Amino acid sequence: MLTNQDISIVSDVAGTTTDPVEKPMELLPLGPVLFIDTAGIDDIGNLGEKRVAKTLAVFDRTDLGVIVSNFSEWGEYENQLMQQFKSSDIPFIVIFNKIDCFEENIDICAELDSINIKYVYTSALNGAGLTELRELLLQSAPTDFINRPGILSDLVEPGEAAVLVVPIDKEAPKGRLILPQVQSIRDLLDNDSFCVVVKERELREALSRFNRPPKLVVTDSQVFLKVAADTPKEIPMTSFSILFARFQADLNEMVRGAMAIDKLKTGDKVMIAEACSHHPIGEDIGTVKIPRWLTQYVGGKLQIDNIRGHDFPQNISDYKLIIHCGACMWNRREMLSRIMKAKQANVPITNYGLTIAYSLGIFERALQPFPAALEIYRESMKTTV
Ligand code: SF4
Repeated sequence: MLTNQDISIVSDVAGTTTDPVEKPMELLPLGPVLFIDTAGIDDIGNLGEKRVAKTLAVFDRTDLGVIVSNFSEWGEYENQLMQQFKSSDIPFIVIFNKIDCFEENIDICAELDSINIKYVYTSALNGAGLTELRELLLQSAPTDFINRPGILSDLVEPGEAAVLVVPIDKEAPKGRLILPQVQSIRDLLDNDSFCVVVKERELREALSRFNRPPKLVVTDSQVFLKVAADTPKEIPMTSFSILFARFQADLNEMVRGAMAIDKLKTGDKVMIAEACSHHPIGEDIGTVKIPRWLTQYVGGKLQIDNIRGHDFPQNISDYKLIIHCGACMWNRREMLSRIMKAKQANVPITNYGLTIAYSLGIFERALQPFPAALEIYRESMKTTV
């Protein structure tokens, strides 16, 4: 009903929904949202256990929970779900569906009112309640969904310019830019700033044409060294991946994580995690370049596991370091829940851009636009010395 599309098989048979069903949708003014319809968490038996595990994993990436029930079936199971959302610190709402079949139950409503849980009545059959449901979703979404902090707009004032360095190599997606690049351009435009996009070969020439230097140069981390060499020292420089460590994750925590690179020894286990899947071509960043740079830095072979997508190993305590991609395709919550799991297991976590900057010896320069993160690094260097 929400998407006005026939997306998944529905039936009266329990267990019809097995894997979570995902549907992306533009829900203005929130922007792009992903609805995930899960199986229940009350399944039993062998397959049931697997279904429950898949459903519970969805909690790690849920910004807003929606419990769909009806007045005839509301009971212990729904109460458990509410507890689960509360203990995971996830805001949630309730939909009483099938309102065409069942009368309102004022006792249940009074109970929800007393604990300040918002709910709507809908009928997926005849579309009743759709407007109210959309309104409730918008009201209940976390506030930073609508007023999300910018990616780089605080670093480049209105009327000032940023240069974005975008290599167009074999690994660039065909005929388009990748999401962090597009989002950065949009962020600068929203901020009334100027944005110049060049490949790394044209950077020096582009910079020479400015009669007032740009406020920031942002590069793909894979060409960090060349861009650092071609950007005059007085112009701040960083990478998309480091901007996304701040926007999508926790930059300070990931800076601390990068410093664990110094403690790596031959044979240590390192996890390299990528949020989305692609066919590695040639010198792939996660499977070839970062392992090579790390091996050179450590001076010996590491045991590297590459993982992709939403699956994350249950036991991560054997790893000495986790290196994550910028996770531009995910919501921030999923990255924060990975950081939380890493902290609980006492495993440092960092990201691609920070790892590359650290291994190539340009960490301090890449952190210059972020004083708090730079301070963490400098303090730690004092302790090490
Ligand atoms: S999700 Fe990760 S691997 Fe995929 S494009 Fe974004 S940063 Fe790259």
